[in-house]
Parts: sequence; C-alpha cells; structure tokens
Amino acid sequence: MLICEACGKEYDLDKNIHVCSCGEPLRMEYFDGEIGEEDDIWARYGSFLPLEVDDLSNLGEGNTPLSKAPSLSKKLDIDLRLKNETMNPTWSFKDRGTILSLERAKELGKKKLGTVSTGNMAASVSAYGVRSGLKIFVLVPSDISDKKISQIENYGPIVIKVDGDYGDLYYESFELADRDTYFTNSNSPFRIEGYKTIAFEIYEENVPHYVIIPTSSGGLFRGVMKGFKELEKSGHIDEIPVPISVQAEGCSPIYEAHESDEREIERWSEPDTIADAISNPFPPGGNDVLEKLDRYDGMCEKVSNQEMVEAQKQIAREGIFCQLASAVGVAALKKLIERGKIEKGAEVVSIITGSGLKGSLSGQNDRSTYNCAIESLEACVNRAFE
Ligand SMILES: *Cc1c(COP(=O)(O)O)cnc(C)c1O
Ligand SMILES: [Zn+2]
Repeated sequence: MLICEACGKEYDLDKNIHVCSCGEPLRMEYFDGEIGEEDDIWARYGSFLPLEVDDLSNLGEGNTPLSKAPSLSKKLDIDLRLKNETMNPTWSFKDRGTILSLERAKELGKKKLGTVSTGNMAASVSAYGVRSGLKIFVLVPSDISDKKISQIENYGPIVIKVDGDYGDLYYESFELADRDTYFTNSNSPFRIEGYKTIAFEIYEENVPHYVIIPTSSGGLFRGVMKGFKELEKSGHIDEIPVPISVQAEGCSPIYEAHESDEREIERWSEPDTIADAISNPFPPGGNDVLEKLDRYDGMCEKVSNQEMVEAQKQIAREGIFCQLASAVGVAALKKLIERGKIEKGAEVVSIITGSGLKGSLSGQNDRSTYNCAIESLEACVNRAFE
C-alpha cells in the first residue's frame, strides 16, 4: 500500500507510481519491526522492509561508522558524531536506496532502470544496475562535473545529458516510464525505505538529541525521519531526535518557506551554489519536509559557499573528506550554537552524505602546502615545521 504524505490518498502498490495525484510524494505504511543480529543490514532490519535483498545485488552498503569528532566537539562544546556515508560502495548514502529500488524493479519484471540525478544517484544506480543485467540509463544535468561523469561512465550505463531545468526534469522523467521501465528518483517510496537504515544504525549506537540532514530534494530527510518514526512506533525509542534540515544559501526553497511559516515551498529561480548535490530548485519532498519539521519541532538553516568550504576543512581534520553538500551540516551547527538554538553538551549527529573525492573547491592553495626542489628538501621540511 502506498499512502500520500499530504492528502492521505491510498494507492495499490502494484500501480508503481511515485507521486500522488495531488503532486505530493507517496510513502509506504509505517512498519513495526524487530532488529535482528545479522551483519548484513538488509537481514538485520528485514522486518522493517518491504522486500528481501538478493545477496547478488549487495555491494556492502550500510554499516557505516558513526565517528566521534573530538576537535569540533571540544570547540563547540557539544558531543558531535559524524555518520560517515562516504564509506558506501559508490561513496554516498544513495546506495542504500538504490539497492531497494533495483530489487523492486526486478520484482516487477522490468528490463530498464532509469534515474534523474545531479551525479551521486546516477553513479549509484549505474553501479548497482549495470551489474544486475538491467538496461540502465541516467539523465544528468549538462553541466555535471568531470569527476562525477567519469565515475558514472565507468560503470557503463547509457548517459543522457539534459540541458534544462533540473526541477522540471524530475516530473518529466515520470512520463518516460513505460511497461519496461522502472524509474527511481530522489523521493521514490522504495528508495526512502532504504534510507531508513541510517536511522536504525544510529539507533543501534545511541540516539542523539539532534540529527542534522543536508537537504536537496528531501528524500534523505524523509527516509531518516521515517526510520526514527518506525523505531518509536515499535517501542524501541521514546523520543525522536530533533531534525535539522540544511540547505545551501544559493538554493534554499525549503529554508525560505520554513522561515516565513509557509506550508508550501516556492520554486527557486536560479540555483547558485558550489554544492551541486544539494541544488534542486523545486524539491519534490519539500512540502513534506516542512510538515515534518513542524511535527518534530525541527529547525532549518542555510549556509553560504564560504561557510561550507570552511566546514569541509574542519571535517577533514576529523579524518573525513566529504563533499561540500555534506559539509553544510557542520556549518549550520556552528551558526545554531552561536544563536543559542542548541544547548551546551547536546548530543548531535551530522550525516556526512558523500565523499569529497567527487569534487571540491577547498584544499587548493592551502597554507600548509609547500613547493620545494629535491636538492633543498631538508631545509624545506625544517621550514615547514617552524
Ligand atoms: C543526494 C544528496 C544529498 C541530498 O539528498 P536529498 O534526498 O536530495 O535531499 C545530500 N548530499 C549528497 C552528497 C547527496 O548525494
Ligand atoms: Zn495526495
């Protein structure tokens, strides 16, 4: 059964649709489950999931570290941990949702699997999809970075670079779905089911007061919160952590709507941010994120390019090289603490959504990088340590 997040309309699961007739995203029912003992996350959380994962599809997604961040914790006077999603097989959390979408496509007997992506989801769908034998095609923006496109192309899908509005492309893509084709997009119900496992893993270590979620289309936010909701429903936790959604200043339709107490987002006219993984101008899950922020007393914040570059370096100094889109969490945290919105000693988890190897701006011209000739190596090293 699929249920509309906004109007409550119900649809038969076999209809294979992702969006309600009212335009809002659909979700599966809230599951009630037990957490098992298995290492494999799909087995361990199986009673919360709508289908079984074939061992052959598994590339080792999930079970990512929840690392302490000693220097940031000390500096900010809180207990900060970083959920390191860069450790997934294609270096972003997207893998958790991709594998369930793939299993669903196979269950329905589809021959082709497609997605719309600024890069990370395309890489993930390509990696999992091509090896499964389905025909994979990905629609990416024409200005996608070289690093991202080279990863995608190596997996061997059909790549279609689209010139045009990325927000519209999401809805256009549904028109392409036919008898043979399954589409998995940022807010597809089965994808959201996969993202829940981030909440389950955090729960198994310990549930924080706050969870910080970089937000573009809203799928990650919706998945993580559905996970916590199900943990509450099945009696594993009494309290759901306070969610903090973070956007880039140059593309922050959810933030703006939240600030002005609107129930609906407005399309962002021209995204202008270096964090391309969070640049969806018309997030399909945006209204639902607003509703959940309201329901769980959440906060929404936006950060500038400079703030995210700075945060990216600080996270790297905790040993994790992340994307700019992932660094927005720590950047927002600093602002919220300064404004007294988060109390001293609070336990906070920030989700580090994807790897910095996929593209970054900082690091260049760093003050701790030196050039020297091999003949003067010793002098050079001595100078560096002065
Ligand atoms: C996809 C993505 C996000 C945003 O997730 P949404 O589900 O679109 O809100 C954030 N960071 C990275 C690295 C991503 O790939
Ligand atoms: Zn609806």
